[in-house]
Amino acid sequence: NDAPINLNDFIRDVQDFPKPGITFKDITPLLLSSPAFEECINQMAEKVSDLEIDVIAAAEARGFLFAAPLALKLGIGMVPIRKPGKLPHDKHSYSYELEYGTDTLEMHVDGISKGQNVLIVDDLLATGGTVEACCRMIEKCEANITGCLFLIHLAFLDGAKKLDPYPVISLLDY
Ligand code: 5GP
Repeated sequence: NDAPINLNDFIRDVQDFPKPGITFKDITPLLLSSPAFEECINQMAEKVSDLEIDVIAAAEARGFLFAAPLALKLGIGMVPIRKPGKLPHDKHSYSYELEYGTDTLEMHVDGISKGQNVLIVDDLLATGGTVEACCRMIEKCEANITGCLFLIHLAFLDGAKKLDPYPVISLLDY
């Protein structure tokens, strides 16, 4: 029972979710396994061990699941980036195009200070729209984005281009 943990074994493919033709990468089996979840956070910490990081930023909801334990492990704070109307204090806001309509994300203006080194964390990089919005708000804080870390990178969707010039780091690539 000391066999190495393969994180791939804890990601479930769900066909036709949320729409026909989409194969959704379901991370809930990983969350259910304490050894796999711990291995995931350890691998994330290892992947960014050579980066300068003062604070982690993550968008709701699945980003929080990885950002919070990673921040604790690295001994740094985390900044939640949220859907409109959830954060109580003064906010930066950024709206971005979706296939149909737009989406908006918000973060507290005092979450990240000028000159800080920020790691963005999310469960999955698809088109890049979500993390690009995070980048634009962190840039408004005049902070440095040292990397964008994902459990899963759907490389065929070219989302990393939207995050250029920031480094995209991932544990699993499809
Ligand atoms: P993007 O903005 O890069 O197109 O989409 C990424 C966001 O949508 C992430 O925050 C992620 O939580 C969610 N997402 C999109 N597709 C999937 C998927 O197949 N699996 C999971 N777990 N999340 C997804």
